[in-house]
Amino acid sequence: MSSTISIVIPCYNEAGNLIPLLNRVTLTCQSYKYEIVVVDDGSTDSSPSELKLLAEKVKHLKVISLKRNFGQTAALSAGIDNSNGDIIIPLDADGQNDPEDIPRLIEKLNEGFDVVSGWRKDRKDTFITRKLPSILANKLISIVTGVHLHDYGCSLKAYKRKTITGVQLYGEMHRFLPAWCVWQGGKVAEIPVRHHPRTRGISKYGIFRTFKVIIDLITIKFFSGYLSKPSHLFSGTGLFFIFMGFCSASFAIFDKFGPDKFTKFRIPLLLLAIFFGLGAISLILMGLLAELLVRLYFQVRNQKPYLLADE
Ligand code: UDP
Ligand code: MG
Repeated sequence: MSSTISIVIPCYNEAGNLIPLLNRVTLTCQSYKYEIVVVDDGSTDSSPSELKLLAEKVKHLKVISLKRNFGQTAALSAGIDNSNGDIIIPLDADGQNDPEDIPRLIEKLNEGFDVVSGWRKDRKDTFITRKLPSILANKLISIVTGVHLHDYGCSLKAYKRKTITGVQLYGEMHRFLPAWCVWQGGKVAEIPVRHHPRTRGISKYGIFRTFKVIIDLITIKFFSGYLSKPSHLFSGTGLFFIFMGFCSASFAIFDKFGPDKFTKFRIPLLLLAIFFGLGAISLILMGLLAELLVRLYFQVRNQKPYLLADE
């Protein structure tokens, strides 16, 4: 049985880009069983009316409209939730990704991978504000996650649906999906894909996105390592603080009552001991709070990070 493909396209103010893009997608995907899910992420230009017309003409197209602008990750998440294919292929609406790469991604996926990630080897964006931060961020993400990819940020990827079912996407987290899949025991491959300069509309991002990505990286690392046991991290650090506090206090006592040579230390040891003591108490209490939150988190996991327009 051949797989069905869902091409998921988040769209925010992409007037003029949608018609040529959908033409190219339908041409490329003729030989597949496929659907195109465009998520209008609260566009304020003429994208919604363009999409309305397109939905009447393009038979494989499904349009999902979000109530306001929720961001690319939430839009992608809404698209995945409202798609049916066994294979999910996110694609940018601005034509920077090349739909003609889709068959190559599917071919690679069918070799037995769970995720195939696109690598914009010849990326057509500015160097200082986009490419350089991206190179550094990719190195950092690779080191922290242990999953080495050149281009986490490339939207064009292919996923087997079953490998990403149940994942909730927040912030900039869609880019970490390949790492998440590997952590779940999946297999990931990377293939070079084409990239084109934006010809219409403007990019929604600048250099600040890199900082958001790094913050999300810390979160995902925490989630992967400590989600079910946050107190191990907090109380573990708390115990280390107790040890440091104990050392500082002992040193302070020696400094005060011990032989003369200790008096040459001019470190405020007592203050340091108090700092470590208070730090330890806070950390251990934070660990307990985190445990409570985690239990709540598991209970409310069905909550979605977006609202549909007709909700
Ligand atoms: N996008 C979105 N919601 C947003 C910002 C962007 O759905 O709040 C979409 C946008 O329409 C495009 C994709 O996400 O299809 C990537 O955005 P963009 O091209 O601006 O990013 P860049 O290619 O510059 O990284
Ligand atoms: Mg773009």
